[in-house]
Amino acid sequence: MTKYLQICKDCGEYRLFNQESKCNLCGGTLINPFPPKYSPIDKYSKYRMMYFKEEFKKKFETN
Ligand SMILES: [Zn+2]
Repeated sequence: MTKYLQICKDCGEYRLFNQESKCNLCGGTLINPFPPKYSPIDKYSKYRMMYFKEEFKKKFETN
């Protein structure tokens, strides 16, 4: 759902993505709420992978 939401640069309201990228409240420009390189999914999967690696080590590389 998050990728269909954009935030209005002018009034700060979250609006549904539309082709004009225009806020239907104030006519301002809609922008992506997240910076292009930021991905919460990737961030969590990175930590999850670290966690699994540690668990793997504990199970298979004891001592
Ligand atoms: Zn607006």
